[in-house]
Amino acid sequence: MKQRTISILGSTGSIGTQSIDVCRMQGYRVAALTADKSVEKLEAQARLLLPEVVAMRDEESAADLAVRLADTGVRVLAGEAGVCECAALPQCDTVVNAIVGLAGLKPTLEACKAGKRLALANKETLVSGGDLVKRTAKANGAEILPVDSEHSAIFQCLEAAPPSRALKRIILTASGGPFFGKTRDELRDVTCAEALKHPNWAMGAKITVDSATMFNKGLELIEAVRLFDVTPDQVKVVVHRESILHSAVEFDDNAVIAQLGLPDMRIPIQYAITYPERVPSPTAALDLAALGKMTFFEPDNETFPCLSLCAEAVREGGLRPCAVNAANEVVNLAFRQARVRFLDIPALIRAAADRVPNSGADSLDAILDADAQARAYANESIGG
Ligand code: NDP
Repeated sequence: MKQRTISILGSTGSIGTQSIDVCRMQGYRVAALTADKSVEKLEAQARLLLPEVVAMRDEESAADLAVRLADTGVRVLAGEAGVCECAALPQCDTVVNAIVGLAGLKPTLEACKAGKRLALANKETLVSGGDLVKRTAKANGAEILPVDSEHSAIFQCLEAAPPSRALKRIILTASGGPFFGKTRDELRDVTCAEALKHPNWAMGAKITVDSATMFNKGLELIEAVRLFDVTPDQVKVVVHRESILHSAVEFDDNAVIAQLGLPDMRIPIQYAITYPERVPSPTAALDLAALGKMTFFEPDNETFPCLSLCAEAVREGGLRPCAVNAANEVVNLAFRQARVRFLDIPALIRAAADRVPNSGADSLDAILDADAQARAYANESIGG
């Protein structure tokens, strides 16, 4: 098994902590860890793993952490620049980007510029800056390996493709989230606490709310378009409540190849690190007979319009996906703070994104500018 030295960005979150689990299970060296403000968690992780360097995006938190870690010899960096330094650390061959939101874009670009293997969970950066990220990776020999379970599944299924690819379409599965099957009337007064009860996955708060609105599946549709060079019309979303079949591809001869497994993110995280090798994992194995059956449904795009909103955005192209993503980041947070109602989320996102002029998403400046505008408009309409 190849030895790896890893930098984990967003190590205190759901994907970050599971990435640490994988590294410990496989004996990989962790050379860098980063977070935003979770000082106590990052201190505990640093004491456990003794990386060479840690970084906190929030400068006050970094100063606090530096005092706490003074006896360890671990170097503490501060701010976005510190996080970016961890993404490009010369000692690391692999960077896991598990930062939430567009805050992951600059570290993603730094990892690409440094020619790393990038195990990418941070889907928002591909949605907003997909072309720029792919161009930067290609120019510097960096590899992007998907961590999202669906995209890891598609990536694995495409390994069965012939040289001509012969890919007809991608079948992207969605759990449907906690509110699947509910009517608009039933959704009128739902709370954040109810939205956070995901049926199958324990994830960070932002993505769990995105799963409830189906915006997450919209982000994933765009992520699939970016990663696998397909058109939006080649991505068929199907609701699969059990989250066992993680996605599939259909070839020109109508053969369908799917990837299955228990819903445990440590499996795709590990594969993004070990690819093309497969190594034993202590995660539980799938028992199909015990599972009994799997179910599939059409998504309800009328009750949950965020999926169509994202599909339209990627068809429109340019800065539109970036604007839609940024508006969602603001509205999603406002819902978690009980400042907007669940049913108002899609219209608030659309209204803010509509005010952002569309043009090419060619440069980091253009992307950050559209992102800032969409956030400002969303905040204005929420009254934030
Ligand atoms: P969490 O909210 O659990 O963790 C986010 C991490 O990012 C934390 O370490 C957090 O630090 C850090 N962070 C937050 N804001 C910033 C910032 N401005 N700058 C630098 N670091 C920051 O998120 P998840 O782990 O759930 O999700 C991470 C990414 O992975 C998302 O893009 C999500 O869509 C994707 N993903 C997640 C899955 C899951 O199962 N959770 C599945 C598939 C994809 P702090 O603790 O200090 O706030």
